[in-house]
Amino acid sequence: MASVKTRLTLPETLVRHCIKTLGIGFRGNVKQLPGTPDIVIRGQKKAIFVHGCFWHGHKGCSRATRPETNRPFWDKKIDGNIARDRRSVRELKKIGWSVLVVWQCQTKNEAALTTRLQRFIERGMTMGARDKLRAYFTSHIGEVLTTQQLRKVAGISEYGRRIRELRDEEGFQIKTHVDRADLKPGEYILESLEQKPVVSRTISPQLRNEILERNGFTCQHCGAGPGDTDPFNPHRKVRLHIDHIVPISQGGTDDKDNLRVLCSACNQGRANVQPPSETALNIIAKIRKLPKSEQKEIYEILKKKFETKT
Ligand SMILES: [Zn+2]
Ligand SMILES: [Zn+2]
Repeated sequence: MASVKTRLTLPETLVRHCIKTLGIGFRGNVKQLPGTPDIVIRGQKKAIFVHGCFWHGHKGCSRATRPETNRPFWDKKIDGNIARDRRSVRELKKIGWSVLVVWQCQTKNEAALTTRLQRFIERGMTMGARDKLRAYFTSHIGEVLTTQQLRKVAGISEYGRRIRELRDEEGFQIKTHVDRADLKPGEYILESLEQKPVVSRTISPQLRNEILERNGFTCQHCGAGPGDTDPFNPHRKVRLHIDHIVPISQGGTDDKDNLRVLCSACNQGRANVQPPSETALNIIAKIRKLPKSEQKEIYEILKKKFETKT
């Protein structure tokens, strides 16, 4: 029976720690693959070996100096390991895997190790819309970016929601015309690389209901109600969200005064870019937002106008 490897070496522990901080999932000691890689990222077909400098013969490394006594024994042992390691890498590459060898002596600087692992793992990786936007914003700091540019980067349907995630979940200070008078609607700017701490976004169901009731189950921006047709996308029904008036990323709280109901369209900021036309549906939505007294007034006007004269 093959012995079960249960204890990790210190370098292996360090490498695993770095990959965990990158938020990347992995599996350890995958016996089904050539050479039993120490760490495997399945979806990306990436295998990582963490080698002890002495036993695996790190070329030119001071830790790999072989003892003078009993030299033939050490040579046979270590040269055998080197040959086997080479074979494993060759076989893995043959079946389409990328391989990284991390030597024990390369695990001392955590920051450098993390960067190296990240580069290896992300090379050739298909990035999601949020990753693409993050990369685009962080490489254009202080520049005004337009909706057209961001749509091209992240896709038309994705960019609004993803920008909100970068702001509210990752704390990036992405500013819009709401925050800065010099920006036009549809323009965005990331002012610095600084990420403000993010407060939990969970709103209790009770608070959610309270806000929905207070706002009459209508979007406070466009007036749409649940089940109405999305004013910006006739193929969709409106969904209502609880929105932070001052975004959490900019110091807003879960206080009732800072919460309001928005529909999915307004919540994603699309309303700033393509204002709805004055269709009957939108006019009704606007009326819904008015106080009861004014709604009554409109009702009286309409009643008078359409009442059949006798
Ligand atoms: Zn070494
Ligand atoms: Zn709305």
